[in-house]
Amino acid sequence: MKDFAGKIAVITGGGTGMGRELARQLVAEGCNVAMCDVSAEAMAETKRLCEVERLPQGLRITTHIADVSIEDHYKRFRDELMEQQATDKIHLLFNNAGIGGGGSMFINTREQWERTFNICWGGVYLGVRTFLPLLVRADEAHMVNTSSVNGFWASVGIGVSHTAYSAAKFAVKGFTEALINDLRLNAPHVKCSVVMPGHIGTSIVSNSRKVQLGTESDQLSADELTQARQRLKGQGVDVAKLSDADIQKLALDRARIFHDEAPTTAAAAA
Ligand code: NAD
Repeated sequence: MKDFAGKIAVITGGGTGMGRELARQLVAEGCNVAMCDVSAEAMAETKRLCEVERLPQGLRITTHIADVSIEDHYKRFRDELMEQQATDKIHLLFNNAGIGGGGSMFINTREQWERTFNICWGGVYLGVRTFLPLLVRADEAHMVNTSSVNGFWASVGIGVSHTAYSAAKFAVKGFTEALINDLRLNAPHVKCSVVMPGHIGTSIVSNSRKVQLGTESDQLSADELTQARQRLKGQGVDVAKLSDADIQKLALDRARIFHDEAPTTAAAAA
């Protein structure tokens, strides 16, 4: 899809980060946008930023409170959108909302694990389930599902485990591949793709540490330093000569390098 003017896009998690930036770009191209988020405040800010542009007359930006892991919220979002955007069809669905954290089998409860999984995976599934009929009614439509480099392989977090996040992001990739086949058979005018971003400095990164460890700081705790020492030793580093500050720097650098290299390596493996 090249021309977004006059089309209608739905964005989940439009309050910050990539959802916000996409909303701004689409609005700048004359696209109507309906976005949902759990944070009314963040969405109001996205809307304000969108309106800084000189908008074509009649262009609609609507904001809706919805938790993407809850089907009833999605239904309410869809009903409000149809009324406020005065439409029974949409052209673009960006299943973007997500959270990190909650993934350590050693620290977190089942509820914390499931919360991450249900938002990152369930949110995509419910988004497709809810909006597919509206996409099918458009002449041409596209869905974008957000996975992650963690959907290729589970990267090493900075003191954060990714078991729930990675399981969800693998699911999004597999689901999208199967959905593409499903659409070819049943609605070939609706296209679908999956995006698998590498590390981008949005709030999800600091929030992951907050959700799992109760800190946003990049400073490793004493336990994390011990784990990092053991991990680096296993990687052949002579840790006995290194201070805690050296370990901290090396561990973070390695985690970042690992994260940054993951897409290239995974693409090469594919
Ligand atoms: P972000 O934290 O800036 O944005 C996520 C948005 O989703 C926030 O506005 C948040 O309020 C919203 N949200 C969270 N839970 C929600 C829920 N239950 N219902 C509705 N909205 C909810 O992070 P981002 O980097 O813009 O992340 C967007 C997507 O990109 C996520 O799916 C994330 O997993 C994925 N991703 C991010 C990175 C990265 O490094 N930033 C890398 C790979 C994939």
